[in-house]
Amino acid sequence: MAVTGSPELLIVMGAGATAEQVDEVVARLAEAGADAHVSAGKDATVIGAIGERELLAALPLEGFPGVDQVLPILKPYKLVSRELSRDPTVVDVGGRRVGGGYFGFIAGPCTVEYREQTLVTARVVAEAGATWLRGGAFKPRTSPYAFQGLGQEALDILAEARAETGLPVVTELMDPRHVEAVMDTADVIQIGARNMQNFSLLSEVGSAGKPVLLKRGPSASIEELLMAAEYVVKEGNAQVVLCERGIRTFERSTRYTLDIGAIPVLKQETHLPVIVDPSHAAGKRELVAPLARAAVAAGADGIIVEVHPAPEEALCDGPQLIPTGEFGDFAREIRALVSLMGRAIG
Ligand code: PEP
Ligand code: MN
Repeated sequence: MAVTGSPELLIVMGAGATAEQVDEVVARLAEAGADAHVSAGKDATVIGAIGERELLAALPLEGFPGVDQVLPILKPYKLVSRELSRDPTVVDVGGRRVGGGYFGFIAGPCTVEYREQTLVTARVVAEAGATWLRGGAFKPRTSPYAFQGLGQEALDILAEARAETGLPVVTELMDPRHVEAVMDTADVIQIGARNMQNFSLLSEVGSAGKPVLLKRGPSASIEELLMAAEYVVKEGNAQVVLCERGIRTFERSTRYTLDIGAIPVLKQETHLPVIVDPSHAAGKRELVAPLARAAVAAGADGIIVEVHPAPEEALCDGPQLIPTGEFGDFAREIRALVSLMGRAIG
């Protein structure tokens, strides 16, 4: 359900609190004109109270049976914060999971260029144990003269690749005018780095009812990324995966600077899964594996990487694409590290 108003107060129920006691608190909030966002965790139920801070502070909630603690939510992001939902969110697409101990291994072409290129890539990544298939149909290109993606034709090819491999498809939505077309095919909607603060697009996917893969803008702070996710979750869509894909710094030897520190920070701040895109951060094929390994070791919930049967002929991001012939070795290494970290491939 969409949330109107800002969650200001956390009501933490005691471990033994009953459903009736939770209902009583919710009813008291409603009586005072406030709303409640109930998050039933493994250890404790937490109620986010939505309404005027002063009005909420005046309620004697601490005295209610079953209530353990009443705390203000001080962070600007509320629904995505760890405070509100203490258990990790698991984004599940047809049984292929990311988050909460499940590692999402997402791979596929940067861009759908033609049918064979995408189908061959999809078969190779599926065979190697990938869990979701990526592929761009609408591409955000720095140059208006560069290949902009095949659009609907690409979506049809992705649907065929899914039918053959069984892998859920993640593809980027750039423009609200394409919502219907992308929604028809995508299992997960990607919001690209350049659109991270396109607030109307975020609200749109928040009410679209499909999981969202939200990439961090190259100049966005961690807090801005979390606020962008808040836009989506506020509309009632809690199935959001955050993606660190490198930020813009003075360094020029990599395409972007992969902010490895963002992974543990995000894991502390939010219950949403956090994945890493080492391909766009590296910009160079030989750097993708070491950055992917670093991401797994830092506690990422997944990676998303670009693969191509003939990178030298690719229409987009050629230098960073892992050749299909090398993907098996790459995947083996990642799988070993994931299990070393005590995670299971989703
Ligand atoms: C992509 O993943 O296809 C892409 C364009 O990445 P980003 O938005 O991170 O640049
Ligand atoms: Mn790319």
